[in-house]
Amino acid sequence: MKGTPVSPGQALEKAHLLAQVHTFDLDKKSLSADKNRIMESIDRAVEQAVARLRRSKERAGAGSELGELFDVQETMILDPAFREEMEKLASQGYEPAAAIMRASGTQEEMFRSLEDEYMSQRADDVHDIASRVAYLVLGMEYPDISRLPENCILAGEDLMPSMLLYADMEHVAGIVLEKGTKTSHVSILASSLEIPTLVGCVGAASVEHGSLSYLDVEAGVFETGIRMEEKSIYAEKIQKYKELRKELRGFTGKDARTADGERIQLLANVIDPVSLGRPAEYGMDGVGLFRTEFLYMNRGKLPTEDEQFAIYKKAAEKIGQNPLVIRTLDIGGDKDVRCLKLPKEENPFMGFRAVRICLKQPDLLNTQLRAILRSSVYGDVRMMFPMVATVGELEALLEITSGAKKELLSEGKAFNEKMKIGIMVEIPSAVIMLEHLAPLIDFVSIGSNDLIQYTYAADRNNKNVEYLYNFMDPAVLWLIKKTIDSSRKAGIECSLCGEMAGDPLGMAVLLALGLRKFSVSTNLALSCKRHLSILSAAECAKAGEKIASARDAEETAGLVRAALPGNYS
Ligand code: PEP
Ligand code: MG
Repeated sequence: MKGTPVSPGQALEKAHLLAQVHTFDLDKKSLSADKNRIMESIDRAVEQAVARLRRSKERAGAGSELGELFDVQETMILDPAFREEMEKLASQGYEPAAAIMRASGTQEEMFRSLEDEYMSQRADDVHDIASRVAYLVLGMEYPDISRLPENCILAGEDLMPSMLLYADMEHVAGIVLEKGTKTSHVSILASSLEIPTLVGCVGAASVEHGSLSYLDVEAGVFETGIRMEEKSIYAEKIQKYKELRKELRGFTGKDARTADGERIQLLANVIDPVSLGRPAEYGMDGVGLFRTEFLYMNRGKLPTEDEQFAIYKKAAEKIGQNPLVIRTLDIGGDKDVRCLKLPKEENPFMGFRAVRICLKQPDLLNTQLRAILRSSVYGDVRMMFPMVATVGELEALLEITSGAKKELLSEGKAFNEKMKIGIMVEIPSAVIMLEHLAPLIDFVSIGSNDLIQYTYAADRNNKNVEYLYNFMDPAVLWLIKKTIDSSRKAGIECSLCGEMAGDPLGMAVLLALGLRKFSVSTNLALSCKRHLSILSAAECAKAGEKIASARDAEETAGLVRAALPGNYS
C-alpha cells in the first residue's frame, strides 16, 4: 500500500486494527427530557474532559507544541457558542449525546467551510473532543489504546487526535491511516511525537489484526501479511535503519562541521509555523528560508497585517538569537492563490509570479512588509525577495520597503531599521547582474530549484524534460560558482536553499564550489551534518577548480566522486 509520508521512520511489527469512534444517533429525543438535567450532565462531562486535557497539557509542558494542541481543544470545548447551541437543542428535547454531536456538527461545518486547509482540518478536533464528551455523558468507554499488549503499528481508517494523545506511546511503533493529510491534527501530533506515520493510505482499514507488517515512511509504503520466513529480510532493513538513526541522533547537539574542521552554517527551510521548533531541536543555525505561501493559499481572504504579524512575531521568538529569513510571497507558477484571482496563463513559470505580482499590486506587498518589519524587533528577522530578475525590480521593491518603513515610523510602530534584506538568486539574469544587485542588499540565497529550470528552459515539474533538470550539469554549476564568487567579492552573505543543498552529491559539489551556508528541509538536518562530517572541504576545493571547466554532468559527477571519501553514502 502507498501513502503520504508524515513523520519519518520504519517499523516491523504486528498491525493493531483501530476501533472506530461510535456514530451517535443525532435524532434521539426524549419526551420527558428536562433541559436543566441534560445541561447538568453535559456540563459535568465537559468538566471531566477539560480536567483530563489540563492534566495532559501539564504532562506535555505548557508552551510546547503538544501543549498548544491541548489548548486548542480546550478552547473549542469551552466555547460559549458551543454551549449555547447545546442548550438550545436540549430544550428541543434532544438527548445529551445527540445535543452534543449536533452542536459539534454545526461547528465542524463552520471549520470545514474555511478555505484555509489547516483551519478546515480543525473540524476533526471539534468532532474528537465532542465525541469524548458524548462518551463521558453516557458513561461509555472511549475506544482506548492506552494499554497495548505489545509493540504494534496502528492501522485504520482514522485516528482521533485525543486517542493518540492518551495512547500507550511505548508500544506504538507506527501509524498508518486511510484518511488524513499532512496538516491533519493527528499528523501534526504524530510528527511532534516522532512516530513513523503514513496517511492517505488506501487499504489501511482492511488490514488483518495481528498480521506482521512493515512500514517504511520515507519510501511511502506499508506492507502487511509478511510471512515468518520473510521476516529476516525486513528485520535486516530495520536494523540498518536503526543503526543509521542512532548515528544521526549523535549529531543533534553538534555544529555542522567538515571532516577537516571547517564550520558550515546549516539553516532550515520551513513551510509552516508548526515546524518552527525543529531547527533548535536538531541544532541548526536558524531558518534560511521561511516560505510564507501557506498564509495565502487555500483560503478565501488575504491575510491581514495583524494576522501575519502575530505569526512572524511568534516565529521570531521561537527562533531566538538565530536568523529567521522570511521570504515574501512567492506565488504564481505552480502555486495558485484563489483569492487573488490570478489570470490563467499559457506559461505560468515564465509569467506573473512572486515579486512580479507584488510590483503590480504594491498594497499586497506593503501589508506583508509592514508585518515582517514589525516582527523584526523580536529576533534576528531578515527579509528576502524571490524571483528578482533586474536591478530595476529590486530598486522598486526597496522603494516599497522604504515606504512601509516611513508609514510605521509615522504611526510610532517599532521595527529594526537595520533589518537585513536579501534576494533569491534563481533567475540567470540575477547571476549575471549580481555585481549591480549586491550593493543594494545584505545577502543572497540561491534558489537552485528554479535556477535549474530557468537555465535549461525545462519545467521543474515536467517528466518529459526531466533529463535536462540536472544540478550536476556544468552550466548551472557555473552560475552557482559565479554567484558564490560575486557575493564574496561584494562582501555579502551567500547561501543555497534549493533541494540540491540537502542532496549528498549536491552538498559535496557545493562545498567544492566554495559554499559554506546551506539551507535544507529540517528532516534532512542530521543526515546533512553527518555527510558534512565525512567530507573534507580542502579535498572538495581541489575538485572545485576543475568543475568549472567540465564538459557535462558525467564529468562533474566523476570529479566530485573522486574527491569523496570511501565511506560517503
Ligand atoms: C528554489 O527555487 O530553489 C526555492 C528554494 O524556492 P521554491 O522551491 O519555493 O520555488
Ligand atoms: Mg524558487
